[in-house]
Amino acid sequence: MPAEPRWLADEMLGRLSRYLRFMGHDTEYVRGLADDDVVAWAQRDGRTLLTRDVQLASRVPGSRLLVSGELPVQIASLQDAFPELRWEVQFDRCTECNGRLAPCAPPRGQPPDAPRPEIGDSLAVYECLVCRHRYWEGSHTAAVRRNLSRWLAPKVGP
Ligand SMILES: [Zn+2]
Repeated sequence: MPAEPRWLADEMLGRLSRYLRFMGHDTEYVRGLADDDVVAWAQRDGRTLLTRDVQLASRVPGSRLLVSGELPVQIASLQDAFPELRWEVQFDRCTECNGRLAPCAPPRGQPPDAPRPEIGDSLAVYECLVCRHRYWEGSHTAAVRRNLSRWLAPKVGP
């Protein structure tokens, strides 16, 4: 497993996909595909399949079977299996489409859901290079950071 993960998350793992993208992991998400197509995608793209489907997992060598349906358990078990990966929020993947984010100029005035007016001027804004969705630190990312700090083991070493 390289330090840059390439995941293919099965249809049942939508929330997990979003969290992996929050952490900057290259994560494609399967929607409405037959098992054969999922297998072909993982193999063609050299992606590690994440699935809760025992049969599907058995068809793709190196895939990760996630036994639990609980998001915190799923994330912790992946961290356990791949401790060398980055397990913290990074602003470099779009949680909507998996595109790369790039810093962009802050919008005029406040973003609509800015949690506190005082962060306006220094707000770092990122834009998806694919779907143009914009991101900034806000109440939502704060919640994601808080959740991850509860669910993940503390970082060991530098
Ligand atoms: Zn996007």
